[in-house]
Amino acid sequence: MARYIFITGGVVSSLGKGLASAALGALLQARGYSVRLRKLDPYLNVDPGTMSPFEHGEVFVTDDGAETDLDLGHYERFTGVSARKTDSISSGRIYSTVLEKERRGDYLGKTIQVIPHVTNEIKDFIKIGDDEVDFMLCEIGGTVGDIEALPFFEAIRQFSQDRFGECIFMHLTLLPYIAAAGELKTKPTQHSVKELRSIGIAPDILMCRSEHPIPEKERAKLALFCNVRPEAVIPALDLDSIYNAPLAYHREGMDRAVLNAFNITDAPEPDLTKWHDVMERVNHPEGEVKIAIVGKYTQLGDAYKSIAEALTHGGMHNKVKVRAEWIDSELFEGEDVTPHLEGFNAILVPGGFGERGTEGMIKAATYAREHNVPYFGICLGMQMAVTEAARNLAGIADAGSEEFDHEAGEKRFTPIVYHLKEWVEGNRTIQRDEADDKGGTMRLGAYNATLKEGSRIAEIYGTTAISERHRHRYEVDMGYREALEAKGLIFAGISPDGKLPETVEISDHPWYIGVQFHPELKSKPFEPHPLFASFVKAAVKQSRLV
Ligand code: GLN
Repeated sequence: MARYIFITGGVVSSLGKGLASAALGALLQARGYSVRLRKLDPYLNVDPGTMSPFEHGEVFVTDDGAETDLDLGHYERFTGVSARKTDSISSGRIYSTVLEKERRGDYLGKTIQVIPHVTNEIKDFIKIGDDEVDFMLCEIGGTVGDIEALPFFEAIRQFSQDRFGECIFMHLTLLPYIAAAGELKTKPTQHSVKELRSIGIAPDILMCRSEHPIPEKERAKLALFCNVRPEAVIPALDLDSIYNAPLAYHREGMDRAVLNAFNITDAPEPDLTKWHDVMERVNHPEGEVKIAIVGKYTQLGDAYKSIAEALTHGGMHNKVKVRAEWIDSELFEGEDVTPHLEGFNAILVPGGFGERGTEGMIKAATYAREHNVPYFGICLGMQMAVTEAARNLAGIADAGSEEFDHEAGEKRFTPIVYHLKEWVEGNRTIQRDEADDKGGTMRLGAYNATLKEGSRIAEIYGTTAISERHRHRYEVDMGYREALEAKGLIFAGISPDGKLPETVEISDHPWYIGVQFHPELKSKPFEPHPLFASFVKAAVKQSRLV
């Protein structure tokens, strides 16, 4: 059975608990252990699928079709372990399960209470698959003291009793620096640990985020006041690259402290070759490319987290630094795009929902096509590239997506992109209606696609059979294939049943590809996604032309 590491946060949010957890997972793997990472989120949404990216950042989709927190993206990028539905849970999901059981009569007339019914549900969740790995890392979202997180803290407290000796707690906090005094302050951390202890949890390890090195004196003070061993106070200084986290935290003794807390004395030394190689590529780029990301949720970097990371990986593969600039597509709507896009070596239009900004995306696609600038359209970015081709190459002037008509409540477009009502998943057919709930009803998760022999995309993948993750409700209409292919937009990838276009490309263009899926979700620093590696390579080529 797995040993458990519970990761909690204190003082303020956004300290990078997800990253710290992911880096710890990578370090344990480097020592030869198997790991799985899990995220427990206190909010009441059933999953983040219905939350705006402005609220919550990117929605990360797993192979098995769960819409999860973006921290699962960090977990996968650092450990290479594919996350599952059962690696992400929210209070909303827990409560809705408990209430469903209550309605079914499963509790046999009992009064339903947070303890034990809600906490039991959380504990059952934590246990799923614990015979498969050496270490289960469970991160609790939010910070200690949040009202809605209390059942989670109570559940992990109980769990550490149920599995006595097999659980440890790691608490991530902030040591603020007071410039006037020239000091790092430990008081907020002391308070946050006190708060944890008041609910029965005593941390074994403190990870201390700090902008400055932590003097020995402060480390000793933290150890004394927070009741941890001095070597279990781990400084987590700001890093220039997130991929430096495993090496940096190892140097500070994070994995050693974890093993000590479990009394594991015979752990193999870690093999960190992979991370040294990753950092070598990050630190020594041989050039730089500029890529424009033309989308809608550009104010918040986290909204396209996986795309930003996948571009970085593509850069590492080509030994260049990728400078990604986020441009709000709405900007283009009344204006000429040229001054905005000139000077970029490639253009990427990412996924998105709703009509706002889409005319600007279409303009960006036209610009890329006409100026031979590499273009990568992902999900909505592919739908807009097809719309662009339909309007400007195939002469369907009012081509558009049904999504926008549905949103507006009136019919304005010829639906080149239509509402997907039926598709095949494995051996069952899924049916959808416009009136369906919004949550969890998209075409979600991994689906296979068949790539045309000899197409550009098949050449990039090095195979004609692929599986990629999806998250969409609308789909390019196969009925326009002939008309568009006659004009040079090739439907190179199709679902295995031949019904759904999965990728499009223009052959006589340096690099013009649209994909209905989200390749960015599977890219890793040590295994860049082939499409991102190839796209950045095309940007490098383009940069040599200008
Ligand atoms: N809004 C589009 C759809 O639902 C695209 C989705 C996306 O880009 N993820 O099909």
